[in-house]
Amino acid sequence: MRTTPSLLSAGLAAVTGLIAFAPGSSSAQTPAAPAAVGATRVAQWQGDRKGAFLMMFDDGCPSHVKNVIPELKKRNLAGTFYIVPNKGEYKAKLAFWETEAPAIPGILYGNHTFSHQGFTDPEQAEKEIARANDLILKLFPGKSPRLISYASPGGVKSAITGDQLKTILAKHNLITRPTFQGHGGAIQFKTADDILKGVDKAMAGGGMEHVIFHGVGGDWISFDLGQFTTLLDGLETRRGSLWITDPVSVHKYETERGTAKVAVAAADAQQIRLELTCGADAALYDQPLTLVTRVPAAWAKCQVTQGTQKLTVTADKGEVRFDARPNAGAITLVPQ
Ligand SMILES: [Zn+2]
Repeated sequence: MRTTPSLLSAGLAAVTGLIAFAPGSSSAQTPAAPAAVGATRVAQWQGDRKGAFLMMFDDGCPSHVKNVIPELKKRNLAGTFYIVPNKGEYKAKLAFWETEAPAIPGILYGNHTFSHQGFTDPEQAEKEIARANDLILKLFPGKSPRLISYASPGGVKSAITGDQLKTILAKHNLITRPTFQGHGGAIQFKTADDILKGVDKAMAGGGMEHVIFHGVGGDWISFDLGQFTTLLDGLETRRGSLWITDPVSVHKYETERGTAKVAVAAADAQQIRLELTCGADAALYDQPLTLVTRVPAAWAKCQVTQGTQKLTVTADKGEVRFDARPNAGAITLVPQ
C-alpha cells in the first residue's frame, strides 16, 4: 500500500521525472523509472549482442581450402584469411583463392604481405604490403579506399622501424589486427573448450575474444579438426548473443561507438526523430551502429527511416533495435 507522497516529493517527481515511492520501501522493491520516449543507447555490439568473436587463419594453408572454408560455409560463419599470394601453396589453389572463396559470404582476406619474407628496407616493405593490398582490393571489389586488416609475418626478420611500418600501414588504410600473443590455435587454445571459455567470458563482460589459427587438421601449428568442428557447433548455439565477425568490422564499430552521440530532436506519440553522430571519418568508418530506442507503449511495430534506407522493426518490452549509420542524416521512427 502506498502512502501519499508529500507535496515536496510530488513536486520533485514532476521536475525530475522520477517516480515517488513511500518512505520505508527498499530500493530493491522500487520499479526502475521508465526511460523517456525517444531515450536511445548505442548497443555495445552490433545487433545488441553480448560479445564479439573473431576467427583468423594465417598463411593460406592447404588445410584452409580442404577443411576450414567448407566447414565455415556450411554454417555461414565468418572467417578472415591472411593469404600469402606469392607462396606455392596459394598458387597451387589459385582458382579457389581468387574465385571460389571470395564469393562465399563471410569470407574475407587480410594483408599478411605478398611473400611473407620479412622486411629489408622501407621501399621493399611497402612493395610487399602494397602488392598484397592491391590483390585484396581486386578480389573483393567495392569501396576504395577502405580499411583492411593487417598482420606482420611472424618468424622472419624485419629491418624497418615501428614508425616506418606505421607510415606504410596508414598510407594503405591498414589496421593492425588483435595480437597473436595468448590467442594462438594449437598453442594457447588446444581444444574447442579452451576457446569457448574465452567466448563465454567475453559475452559475460561485453567484450571480445579472438583466435588465430594456422593449420587445421594438417599443415603447420595444426589445430585438431574434430575440435575445430566442435568449436563451430558451439559458436552456432551462441550466435544469437555473439557477434561473429571480422577484425575490421569490430575496429570500425568500437571506434565509432567510442565517440557516438545520439540527440533526440523530437519524441512524441506520432514520431521520434534522432541524430546519430560520431567523431570518426565517415569515408572509412561506415559500419552501422545498433541503436536501442524507447518507443511509446502503443507502438507494436514501427518504421525506421534514414536517408533512402527504410526498415520495419518490432518493439520488444517498449524498445526497438535497429542499425543506423553515424553522420548519415536524421533517423525517423513512426508507428506502423
Ligand atoms: Zn604467417
